[in-house]
Formats: sequence, structure tokens, C-alpha cells
Amino acid sequence: MSWLDEITFERADALRREFGTPCFLYAENTLRAAADAAKAFPAAYGLTVRYAMKAAPNANLLRRFLDWGLSFDASSLHEALRLEAAGVPLERVSLSSQQFDPGFADLHRRGMAVNACSLDQLRRFGEAFPGGRAGLRFNPGLGSGGTNRTNVGGPASSFGIWHESLDAARGMAAKHGLLIERIHSHIGSGSDPEVWKRVAGMTLDIARAFPEVEAVNLGGGYKVARMPDETATDLRRIGAPVRELFERFAAETGRRLRLEIEPGTFLIANAGAVLASVEDVVDTGDEGYRFIKLDTGMTEILRPSLYGAQHPIRVLSARRDGPDREYVVVGHCCESGDILTPAPGDPELLAPRRLGEARVGDICLVGGTGAYCAAMSAKNYNSYPEAPEVLLGSDGTARLIRRRQTLAQILENEIAAE
Ligand SMILES: *Cc1c(COP(=O)(O)O)cnc(C)c1O
Repeated sequence: MSWLDEITFERADALRREFGTPCFLYAENTLRAAADAAKAFPAAYGLTVRYAMKAAPNANLLRRFLDWGLSFDASSLHEALRLEAAGVPLERVSLSSQQFDPGFADLHRRGMAVNACSLDQLRRFGEAFPGGRAGLRFNPGLGSGGTNRTNVGGPASSFGIWHESLDAARGMAAKHGLLIERIHSHIGSGSDPEVWKRVAGMTLDIARAFPEVEAVNLGGGYKVARMPDETATDLRRIGAPVRELFERFAAETGRRLRLEIEPGTFLIANAGAVLASVEDVVDTGDEGYRFIKLDTGMTEILRPSLYGAQHPIRVLSARRDGPDREYVVVGHCCESGDILTPAPGDPELLAPRRLGEARVGDICLVGGTGAYCAAMSAKNYNSYPEAPEVLLGSDGTARLIRRRQTLAQILENEIAAE
């Protein structure tokens, strides 16, 4: 049973009165349990768990992961700066970015590890740090993801150096006297042990070509079960064969490689929920649908519109006698794609859900929204303000960790042309 199921109407209503809706909630206990599970990933010769902070970047979350012994993956220079601002030592950060802002050089000088994610990034790194130490992100040629949009490996993905360019990467590294200390491959969301084993094998083959490599980073992408019918990745199950491969590699080469993993989703998805109010209930007749309109939507939870992602939804009301009904749950934006109950994997299709009877003013909890929600939304669309974030502490407290944005803040950077 998840922490979400334990939230009563009275508790939800108290949170609503204190913080308003929509509002992000994060359960510290669940966060901690996920961090502990990640740290138990099987590894033969040492493990570094990096939180992929793009999943949810609030400093309070970052600092908790820091205290619990995690390191960090930054997907942009801005993320790295944000980690630093949160008090994370740069030695605990590695950068793997699609956009290689020149500011990387300053942060690298101060301790941040850099994974060059393309040949040109490697050239730029080499020019800035001749004789330096770099990591290389490869696209091993294989992907694993729920949809094309979450798949970040294989020929349809631009992430990393294409595996067939290995010699070119070696040449570029040699030209600048670079020491390649880490090989990285992150191929996206999946939980198939066979796929993890194959990717680990392919990544180790790449590591073979770089004799100074000390660590192999297999990225993130561990699936979690948001919905009752989904199965979570069993880290021990996908990790065991990977560990064997590292041991075999050590037996063959005498090199004991450290394993790095970079979970985002796994660490935080199910620790988050959005508290929302039922704004309206409408229907489109006998041949149509019954809709619940919430005061949230793609402004906080974009994943359903983007991927057809499924999030658990609970209706909470003071009445406990209403019949369950079929509802399509939609967001508050003037945008027909703003739906919270699309068909699985198909954001174009509506998939009505059986939920407790909803009336205007009731509360809805949308679960599984810890990852890629507060961090990745259609922020300020329709000029809705950014929603607040609240940490539900292990000690039972509810603490505001981000305020609701004000209209003045939305307008802050606008300049009159006259
Ligand atoms: C996004 C990302 C991750 C985390 O992916 P999840 O699916 O959230 O686990 C890890 N590493 C890199 C390089 C990423 O870009």
C-alpha cells in the first residue's frame, strides 16, 4: 500500500487549506526507501548512485539525497549550477548534456566530472583541457524505452557518441592527450533484465578499448509501478547479471571497474503526488463522456499529454457513499490535449477511468508525480502560476519547500517596448 492510499479526506483537506491547490506533495519516507533500494544495487567493485536531478530539482530534495550518500547527474550546465547553489560539492556531480555550454570549463576546474556526449563535445573538452580526464557517453546502438519519446538509445536517438564512432573518439582523445576515465551509456526507461545485460555487455566492450577507464555508468531508466497493474524494476534482478559481467571483465582484463547508476524516476516518482480540487464535472450526453475538470493539468503534470503516461487518481470527498463512475479526467488548460486519463501510451485517445463519484469542490490526488512533473510542465500556460511544493516529513510535518508563483513573478521579465 502506498502512502497515497493512507491520505484521508480530512488530511487532504487540511493540506488544501494550508497550501491551496494545485500543490505538489513529496513523502520523505518513500524518498528515503527508494534511495536505500538504489544503494543496494548489486555491484562487484563499488557503486556510485547519482540522482538524475532533472526528475525533480528542488534543493530540499537534492540536499536529502546528498545527506543519504547519493551523488548527482546534471543534464545541463544550469542543473549543475543549481546543484552547487543547493550546497552539493561539485566532486559529487557529473555532467552529461546535449548542450555543452562553455561554462562547463569553470565547473570542471572546480571538480565536476564531464561526460562528452558527442565527438564535437570531446573536441571542445580537449581544447579546454589538453591532457585532462574525461568521460565518454556512448549510444551503444540499442534502446529500451516505453515509447519513442522515452527511448534514448539506438539509431533513432541523438544521445551519446554512436558506437561505430569509437575509433574516431579514440583518435580525438589521443589528439588532445585525454585520459578517458569513464564510459557512460544511458538508454532510457526500461526494466527488461536481458536488455540491461546486453547494454552492460556492449558498454564493457567499449570500456575494453580505453585502458584507463575506471568506471562504467549505465545511466537510469529503471521503471517504477505507478499503476496497480504495472511492475517495478527489480534492481537485484537486473543487477545480478550485470555484476557477473563486471566480474568476468575483471577476470579477463585485471581491471575492477566501479559501477555508476543514475536513477531519476526510480528515486522519486512514487514519492510525489499532486493535490488538486475538482473544478467542474460536465458530460457530453449518453454517447459521450463524463468529465472531471481539475485545477491542475499539463501545467503540473505533462506526462499524460506527452506520452500517454498513466497516473493513479483518487477522488476524496467528505461523502463516502457515492457510486463509482466512469470519468475522463482533464486539466484546466484551454487545450484539448490537456488530459490526465489518456489511453496508455497514446495521448490521442481518451480512456475513461472508474473513480469515486466526484462533485465540484472535492479533492483529487494524482499519484506518481514526483518525477518529471514539477520539473517538466507547461509552466505558466494560460498564465497559471507555478504550483507550490510541500515536503511531508518523516516526522509528520508538512513543510512548504516552494511558494506558489505570483502574478508579479510571471510578469517579472516582461519589458514594455515603448
Ligand atoms: C534522464 C537521465 C537519467 C534518468 O533517467 P530516469 O528514466 O529518470 O531514471 C539518467 N541519466 C541521464 C544521462 C539522463 O539524461
